[in-house]
Amino acid sequence: MIKFNEPMSKHCSLRSGGMTSEFFLPEDINELSLFLKSNVKPILLVGLGSNLLVRDRGFNGVTIHTKNLKELHITNKYIESGAGTSLAKLSRFAQANLKYGAEFLSAIPGSVGGALAMNAGAFGSEVWQYVVSVQTISLSGELQERFPNDYEINYRSVKHRFGDEFFISARFDFNLNKPNDNVRELLDKRNFSQPIGLPSCGSVFKNPKDNYAAKLIESSGLKGFCIGGACVSEKHANYIINQNNATALDIENLIIHIQNTVKTLHNVELETEIIII
Ligand SMILES: Cc1cc2nc3c(=O)[nH]c(=O)nc-3n(C[C@H](O)[C@H](O)[C@H](O)COP(=O)(O)OP(=O)(O)OC[C@H]3O[C@@H](n4cnc5c(N)ncnc54)[C@H](O)[C@@H]3O)c2cc1C
Repeated sequence: MIKFNEPMSKHCSLRSGGMTSEFFLPEDINELSLFLKSNVKPILLVGLGSNLLVRDRGFNGVTIHTKNLKELHITNKYIESGAGTSLAKLSRFAQANLKYGAEFLSAIPGSVGGALAMNAGAFGSEVWQYVVSVQTISLSGELQERFPNDYEINYRSVKHRFGDEFFISARFDFNLNKPNDNVRELLDKRNFSQPIGLPSCGSVFKNPKDNYAAKLIESSGLKGFCIGGACVSEKHANYIINQNNATALDIENLIIHIQNTVKTLHNVELETEIIII
């Protein structure tokens, strides 16, 4: 199904942003592959939009939503998951099948594809620690199997040598003998310290080496500071909340203001974690 002029604010957890000129929701990998074989327009892959902001002037190309790529099963002790599966569902599935290590994923509101692209992590674990292999699709619709060694994987950063390829599924090794963590406790910890439930993208900035972005922003006096409808959270200074119909420009201007203030006061350059299109 293809839609035209679809507002990306509907698909991003910040509830802000411009339109995508085309929006494609493939039913399965075959439909996606066929589409890519004949497509010539720029492509943007979107999972749950929990780390994404599309500028107000929009994206002139095809946004592909992975929602329907959501198979989830166990083959030879490994969990195989489609890119569109939510991390919370993957975490629940792993526990229900007595496979442990995926507990931390329950606290991250993204999809498997988005987590692979970002090397999402929480509570000391990162998603790529558990990847055995991934299936990718190229811009021309070709499928490939890739392995962790094919990528340069760092804190919230994944680079590969194969040009533009997108993740369509992953095989995970969640085979610890017992749970790493208690999921309820992880979620309580998170709810206590972060503004969960309000429109945000989680942490806006990566933590600089040996420091915390939230600490630097808070000590710069920016908690509660707003530009237009975008505000620095009072609860967690590394969160920007869309408090009052913020435009993508409000959010980006606030990001720049935070970066400039922290640079002036602490001489630290904050790098964004959020992806801005
Ligand atoms: C309340 C809140 C709390 C959060 N807490 C955490 C946290 O603890 N740890 C953490 O790491 N993150 C956290 N995040 C950020 C976010 O949830 C993660 O980065 C998540 O992995 C993004 O997944 P997504 O499906 O939403 O990706 P999207 O936002 O849809 O996309 C993010 C990027 O990945 C690309 N992408 C998406 N799918 C694919 C694919 N299939 N193939 C290739 N590229 C793809 C997109 O093009 C984009 O560049 C939080 C966000 C929120 C709103």
